[in-house]
Amino acid sequence: MISEKMKPFVANNSAIRMMFEEGNRLRAIYGADKVFDFSLGNPSVPAPECVKQAIIDLVNEENPVVLHGYMSNAGFEDVRETIARSLNQRFGTSFGARNLIMTVGAASGLNVTLKTILNPGEEVIVFAPYFLEYGAYVKNYDGRLVEITPDTTTFQPNLKEFEGKITANTRAVIVNSPHNPTGVVYSEDTIKKLSAILEKKQEEFGTVIYLISDEPYRELAYDGVEVPYLTKYYKNTIVGYSYSKSLSLPGERIGYLVIPDELDGSAEVITAASIANRILGSVNAPSLIQKVVGRCVDARTDVEAYDRNRQALYNGLRECGFECIKPQGAFYLFVKSPVPDEKEFCEAGKKYNILMVPGSSFACPGYVRLAYCVSYETIINSLPAFRKLAEEYQK
Ligand code: PLP
Repeated sequence: MISEKMKPFVANNSAIRMMFEEGNRLRAIYGADKVFDFSLGNPSVPAPECVKQAIIDLVNEENPVVLHGYMSNAGFEDVRETIARSLNQRFGTSFGARNLIMTVGAASGLNVTLKTILNPGEEVIVFAPYFLEYGAYVKNYDGRLVEITPDTTTFQPNLKEFEGKITANTRAVIVNSPHNPTGVVYSEDTIKKLSAILEKKQEEFGTVIYLISDEPYRELAYDGVEVPYLTKYYKNTIVGYSYSKSLSLPGERIGYLVIPDELDGSAEVITAASIANRILGSVNAPSLIQKVVGRCVDARTDVEAYDRNRQALYNGLRECGFECIKPQGAFYLFVKSPVPDEKEFCEAGKKYNILMVPGSSFACPGYVRLAYCVSYETIINSLPAFRKLAEEYQK
């Protein structure tokens, strides 16, 4: 018997995962090179060479009892110190090891944060489209998810509606930039306006509203676009970072939280978050890979490879007549479905072995997401298939 709370999760088991199964089925029938699977955000670029070297060096050089042992629930002090210094250099911040908690990826960082700050019934605001797992994470702590409808012209957050939906019960807001699924980067102007609204509402209600910045795609930004560092604009910001995409390490499950000193209740929040890391069952982030990211703090993934894919797919789809905002970051394109029911469009794509994720999986029907973290050949080979698909709607 499973719990009542788990039943809806089982019933709605992620559409993205089902797509993955469908990809395997089609690959078995047609061969891998004939299937254009844009469904999963699994990096196609391998981890930088220094990751491999760091693993080898660490295993050879470090005391195994320390390297593979338990440590403080927040993670190795030296690793947190190294990352804090790197952030300070890049963003002009003044974090120390005390402000960082190593987590089991961004997913765990979000769960740790929500467990730390959320009381049952309190509200967490998200901007559609959004990573649907946020809903599950908020439910884990009996919070209430409040959605803001999308602005489909820019996919920047709809701030007017946002302001109207903040209540005395609002505990947190989650933002994600560069953004999954649209690839949009929130501009500095947007961040300043959003911060001003939060300041005003905190004042009005006499509450603390935390801004959670979910940043697995921070390093994937194109055309020299700036990705603002949010703690500099709003003091009650908690940053959740991940190496899943930035160093192509999604299976290793490693990331961190930044909880600045300026945050209201900072010391208490930091202590509680370390304990949340422990009692949620992670205890601490995996030890070897913590040390690896500490040694690879200045390493970067091959952003040019994703950029090449971005240009080829965006230009190719536009030439076929599809409508799509040009992404400035992450590795996703959010394409307008030529028919209102985007699930029907996804089904039509399968006839040409094209796999896309319906926008309703991101609370934004009428659109589809294409993850272009695939090989360049897959992109080029998929374009004739997209052309045939487009022709179905031009008849
Ligand atoms: N947040 C967003 C917006 C994501 O797209 C993902 C993964 O795709 C995550 C969080 C979870 O990332 P992680 O692998 O670091 O847990």
